[in-house]
Amino acid sequence: MKPAPVGYLRPTSLEEACRALADDPDAKVLAGGQSLVPLLSMRLAAPSTLVDINALPGLDGVEVDEAGVRVGALVRHADLLAHDGAARVQPLLRMALSHVAHAPIRNRGTTVGSLVHADAAAEMPAVLALLGGTVEVVSARGTRTVAGADLVVGPLESSLAHDEVATSAWFPALADGQGVGFAEISRRQGDYALCGVAALVRRAAGRVVEARAAYLAVDETPTVVDLLPALDGDPDGDPDEARLAAAADLALASLSPAGDIHATEQYRAHLARVLTVRVLREADDHARRRGQ
Ligand code: FAD
Repeated sequence: MKPAPVGYLRPTSLEEACRALADDPDAKVLAGGQSLVPLLSMRLAAPSTLVDINALPGLDGVEVDEAGVRVGALVRHADLLAHDGAARVQPLLRMALSHVAHAPIRNRGTTVGSLVHADAAAEMPAVLALLGGTVEVVSARGTRTVAGADLVVGPLESSLAHDEVATSAWFPALADGQGVGFAEISRRQGDYALCGVAALVRRAAGRVVEARAAYLAVDETPTVVDLLPALDGDPDGDPDEARLAAAADLALASLSPAGDIHATEQYRAHLARVLTVRVLREADDHARRRGQ
């Protein structure tokens, strides 16, 4: 199908973009177009005007310091994936981005666009929520910071107002003693996941003192679950098989896996269980290799 007729604006300043969005409640931001354009073509979205943000200055940078990684709204998945500084400070970015779509889509699609698109099956909203990252948002009314955990409020629904432009996302660095893991199952490499899990474990004095996991493609929004209660109390500081299985039980109690044409509810629950054990082990190994 072809899109319905749609207007097109290519502002050259953020102020101009914000004004265009404020003046027209049916206008929509266009970033990489890798999600929006298919929706237009299938006529599942019919905005009055596309406000193309690709000519806005200053939004295409990745800034890395010891506190974290700031990703501008025009940074493509492929650029962030290839960024060695970002991978050093927060390895989960590269782990997860390597599962985002196929190379041509990563060359054009933006990481911030993926966050705002709010697909529960996307990798990066789950990563942002797990790490406690944030999104910087600008409108004619001013600037605000949205916590990753508050960004996705429903299927393909973010907490941004129609007139807001996300200008960057910030992912915290891996702290001392922390390790991360990521795994997903999809029908083919690059497809959306049937189920994916990202985990963060922190070890201190030979024990696990922080453990949580974020789930994608399981619930209607990315879900972060605190798994420390299941891993805590091991005298050797070692998450053994029984504790890892208890962590998976704890996770499942907080999730509501849905069935669809790709996977039944039971299969998704099974994947969530298996992947929880796998990524917790990976994150724990990573934390040990980093010195705890
Ligand atoms: P666009 O398509 O331009 O916009 C998407 C939505 O976000 C629109 O509603 C738009 O208005 C809004 N938006 C975008 N940027 C901003 C901004 N800065 N401020 C305010 N609103 C904004 N993604 C995955 O995560 N995992 C996958 O496995 C995956 N597989 C894919 C497979 C295929 C075949 C395709 C076509 C896409 C796939 N994607 C996948 C989606 C891809 O990652 C997109 O790049 C991403 O979802 C959206 O980024 P974009 O820059 O293309 O945004």
